[in-house]
This record gives sequence, C-alpha cells and structure tokens, in this order.
Amino acid sequence: MRTADAVVVGGGTVGAWCAYFLRQAGLARVVLIEKGFVGQGASSRAAGIVRMQGGTPEAVRLGVWSRRFYLSQRDELGTDSGFVEQGYLLPCFTEADVAAARERMAMQSALGVPVRWLDPDEVDAANPTLAPGQTRGGTFCDRDGYISPPRNVAAYTVALLRSGVEVAEHVAFCGLAPGGAASGGAAGAITVDTSHGRIDAGLVVLTGGPKLAAVGRLAGVRIPAGGARHQVAVTERHPDLDPARLPMVFDLAAGLYWRPEEGGLLFGMSNPDEPPGENREVDEDYLAKMRARLARLVPVTAGLGLRRIWAATIDYTPDHLPIIGRALDQVTVACAGGAGMMWGPAVARAAADVALTGSSDVLDVSPLGLDRFDDAGRSRLATDPIALPFPERISSS
Ligand SMILES: Cc1cc2nc3c(=O)[nH]c(=O)nc-3n(C[C@H](O)[C@H](O)[C@H](O)COP(=O)(O)OP(=O)(O)OC[C@H]3O[C@@H](n4cnc5c(N)ncnc54)[C@H](O)[C@@H]3O)c2cc1C
Repeated sequence: MRTADAVVVGGGTVGAWCAYFLRQAGLARVVLIEKGFVGQGASSRAAGIVRMQGGTPEAVRLGVWSRRFYLSQRDELGTDSGFVEQGYLLPCFTEADVAAARERMAMQSALGVPVRWLDPDEVDAANPTLAPGQTRGGTFCDRDGYISPPRNVAAYTVALLRSGVEVAEHVAFCGLAPGGAASGGAAGAITVDTSHGRIDAGLVVLTGGPKLAAVGRLAGVRIPAGGARHQVAVTERHPDLDPARLPMVFDLAAGLYWRPEEGGLLFGMSNPDEPPGENREVDEDYLAKMRARLARLVPVTAGLGLRRIWAATIDYTPDHLPIIGRALDQVTVACAGGAGMMWGPAVARAAADVALTGSSDVLDVSPLGLDRFDDAGRSRLATDPIALPFPERISSS
C-alpha cells in the first residue's frame, strides 16, 4: 500500500463505520488500519445501550441518527447490529431529579424524541421487577433499545468488505510525516507512517477509543480523551426477568444501568472514584457494591448467580461529549466519548463528512472540535448530564 484517498486509524465501531461512509461517499481507495484485529477494543465489549434520551441537543441528534441507521442496516447491508427496541426508563429519586428530567424531556421532545413522563405508579406498573414505591416518576422512551456489540462488529466487518474498504489488520499507526514521502512526492498528500510502511493519503481520520490520546500523540495532536475501567455482568435466568416485563433502566444517580439479556439481566457501572487508566481486571469488591444497589432496586436479582462478568476500558472525554473535528489540515479526529453504541454510527458519518467537506448534515459539529478544550483539557461546554459518573481527570495512558 503506498497511496490511498483516505486512511482511517482504528477498527472499532467509530473507525470502521467512518471508513465505510467515506467509501459510500465515493472515495475510491479507503484503507482502515488496525493494530490488532477489528473490534478488539471497546466496541466488542460494550453493553450495547442505544438511547435517544440525550442530555444535550447534540447527544439527542447523535442518538436519533444512530438508531435510525441501525434500523436501516438490513436494507443497506443485508445484515444488522441486532437493534432491539426495548424501551428505556430513567427514574427519578429526588425532586431535583424530577425538575432536571422534565427540563430535559422538553428539549428531547422538541427534537422529535417520543419521550414521556411516567408518574410513580406508572413506573411501577411498567416495571414489575422494580421494587415498588422507590421512584418519583421518570422519563420513558419506548423507542430506545440496545444492539448486540459483537453483532455490530460483524455488521461493520461485512460493510467494510462489501463496500471495498481495504482492511489492514495487525498494522499499527506510528505517526504522520509531511506529504508525499511514500510515493515520491504526491501533491497534496499526507504521509501515514505504519508498522508496515508508509501510505500517502488524501485525508486521515484518527480514532482509537480509550487509546485515542496515544494515537493523537503519535500524530503530534493533543487529544483530551481517556479510558477508565467499566464492569458488566449478566445474571442467570429467572422467569421474572422476561424481556416483556423488563424495560432498560438507567439509575443515573448511581451510574448503574441494566437491560434484559438471554433471560437474565445485564448490568453495568464504573467506579467514579477509581483513577482513570487501562484496566480489564474484574474488581470483585466494586462488583459487590453494584449488586447491592441493583438488588435494592430489582430485588429478584439478590439471589441470582452470575453467568458472565467482564471488565474493559471505556473511552471518555472531559465533558462526556464526542469529539468530531479537524485536528490538522487533512486530519480529522473522531471519538464517541464512551457512547459508541448509541452515537457511534452518527459520529462516524459526521467525521467522514467533516474529513470530506468540513461540515456535516448529521449535526452542527462546530462546538464539538478539539478547540473546545483548554491546555489543561477542560471543556468550555457544559458536561452531558446523562453520562456515567467517570472521573473528569484524563489518564496519561
Ligand atoms: C464494558 C463497556 C460497556 C459499554 N457499554 C456501552 C453502551 O451500553 N452504550 C454505548 O453507547 N457505549 C458503551 N460503551 C462504549 C463504547 O463501547 C465505545 O464508546 C466505543 O466502542 C468506542 O469505539 P471506538 O471505535 O472509538 O473505539 P474502540 O472500539 O476501542 O476501537 C479503537 C481501535 O483502535 C485501535 N488502535 C489503537 N491504537 C492504534 C494504533 N496505534 N494503530 C492502529 N490501531 C489502533 C484499537 O486496537 C481498537 O481496535 C461501553 C464500553 C465498555 C468498555
């Protein structure tokens, strides 16, 4: 490989869908480089929650676009990411929660999200697994749902191969060099240095999920994105956990969410007090805390064994919003800010658009670039209020 119209770094959901969209937009030669194998990062390990009930207008737009994309995949690709329209409840436990939720709901409704308010007794009726009388009501959207992350990796692999993206696995991005070095000075090209040689590219998109800061450093770009441990577990089956009586729930105050999974309940959470950094070891003590909170709200889980437990590193940004923007003239950065299942396809399409034209019809990306961060990595945007309670510090890894 010596020349390409575009090189995309990273074979996760953001990089892979971005490469696919660049090819769809008409670029003849799109190369995706992945240092391991596609899907080996956060994208195969996620819980798959897809929510249009975003905390900011940008979050809502990205969720709406991505959900629509998941629903359209079968027609476009002959396969899909396994989206299940399960319905998502965000319960409120205090009057302050209620006020914030009602304000958010007005913003979401104005953007076309069919979200509605459930009074406390309606919450209990819609969620027979929830301990009754716990909430002060909550917002509910029956169009929210979840995808199967491994199936999404399979879907984007099919999309890449079908569309003719050249997928180079076990090829690491090593940096950028001034244009044309690989092909003897091709005009207007930027040279991508890889573990397997150089490629002259018309444009470059940098992704990397929890490793994006390190990818950025190789390119000489400071990207305030980090990684933190996130744990997920699946209980054994129980008749009470039938998907028909179990909407997905996000206990925002605790940062604990759950959804049905194969007759049991999948739940996930990060420890907000843990220092950020790569970590894939299961923290049994913290898992016990997650289980205790879950058992208080969903009592049937108290006596259930666990069928699966895993920990993985999740990406995040200081304001929990995505990064979509040009870093250098021909270099675009894309990060889903820890929401790559619910926002990933939209972030990928917007990044492809920005790489090609500087703007996108997915959403106005102008507030979402790297220029919103100061030298210490602080964002001038308000933090997305519906996010996992990650540390706001950025890991140096
Ligand atoms: C346990 C867990 C649960 C989650 N649950 C949800 C959820 O329910 N809903 C939701 O929306 N999001 C969820 N997420 C977040 C979501 O998975 C991520 O936001 C998303 O996968 C990020 O996609 P990505 O493509 O940016 O990164 P990744 O999937 O991590 O892909 C980045 C790729 O870049 C490659 N790479 C890194 N460095 C280089 C290099 N130098 N050269 C070449 N390649 C390189 C990596 O090997 C990797 O394959 C979860 C994450 C975790 C870990």
